[in-house]
Amino acid sequence: MFFRVVDKERLPDLIAGLSSEFEVVGPVEKGGRFVFAPVTDPAEVRLDYDTTLLPPKKWFMPPEETIMRFRRADEEVVDDEVFAPPRVLFGLHPCDINALLLMDNVFTQDYVDPYYKARRDNTLIVGVSCIPSETCFCNIWDTDEVHWGFDIFLTDLGDRYFASLRTVKGAEILDRHVENRSVTDEDTLEFQRVVHVFKEAFSNTVDTTQLPVLLDAKFDSPIWDQFGEACLSCGACSMVCPTCYCFDVTDRLEPDQKTGTRVRTWDSCQFKQFAAVAHGQNFRDDRASRVKYRYYHKQWGYLSKFERVLCVGCGRCARACPADISPVKVVEALQTGGVR
Ligand code: SF4
Ligand code: SF4
Repeated sequence: MFFRVVDKERLPDLIAGLSSEFEVVGPVEKGGRFVFAPVTDPAEVRLDYDTTLLPPKKWFMPPEETIMRFRRADEEVVDDEVFAPPRVLFGLHPCDINALLLMDNVFTQDYVDPYYKARRDNTLIVGVSCIPSETCFCNIWDTDEVHWGFDIFLTDLGDRYFASLRTVKGAEILDRHVENRSVTDEDTLEFQRVVHVFKEAFSNTVDTTQLPVLLDAKFDSPIWDQFGEACLSCGACSMVCPTCYCFDVTDRLEPDQKTGTRVRTWDSCQFKQFAAVAHGQNFRDDRASRVKYRYYHKQWGYLSKFERVLCVGCGRCARACPADISPVKVVEALQTGGVR
């Protein structure tokens, strides 16, 4: 990795330059909140955003996509072409970049998902530093820092950005589109100071020591019933989560009953029908077992395979949950033995 410095006032040049080569998607304001959306004017980009409503995963795995078309008459099946235009995701926070790395483990290793992979290969990532909001807790999972998974990472030093260049493509693009200069000792000292300020800004501290052991020990705890009582099974926590990747596949017949499409849509383990199987059986019929399953998958099951928990502490689920259930509350309840 190597480093350059870009004056803040030059940032619009970079975004405009990228727009001449790629579709640029960045954080923009919408109704008082922030979303990742295509950018037509550099002035729309709000790098001071706290958290976006939906995570960047939708640009790699859309909420709904057609994966094939079929015609019953001649038994013809045609795979839908993957729509993967050259794109830049601009302004991702470290937690969201780390979330994509966790998604990569699922979609690009044992079973390569061609739709996800094509979009991942065709997308450049430009990250940006942030100041944690009160619902952020990436610090507890060590996802407040990111060292790979991006092409360029911009750390805000006030009047300038400290640009970390992870890939050759990132370096070339920076050079091509914006005036930049070498890093001085003063820049590096300021970078270290800013990183320290960031680390000190977290208000959420929760002890995750021996969490898998604790989960094993608390499998039959009544705290799961208490969380189940509160949960509304709305699925919002999964929908806004940058690391939830479950999907459903359905065949949709056209009214002519001869042609149709196979469609993949986001799903949630919090929906009652998620674990329903043939003959009307449902092996997670009650809300308590579904809430429990979500946490055991994220903080035990995924960990046992990939040695990371499947949470990056972005806090989106805490903001979205109408029942005030969050990973911090669940871990605290496991630690203390009761729901506060
Ligand atoms: S579980 Fe919640 S905090 Fe963790 S990554 Fe998902 S939305 Fe973010
Ligand atoms: S957002 Fe909250 S209420 Fe809705 S399913 Fe998730 S835990 Fe339950």
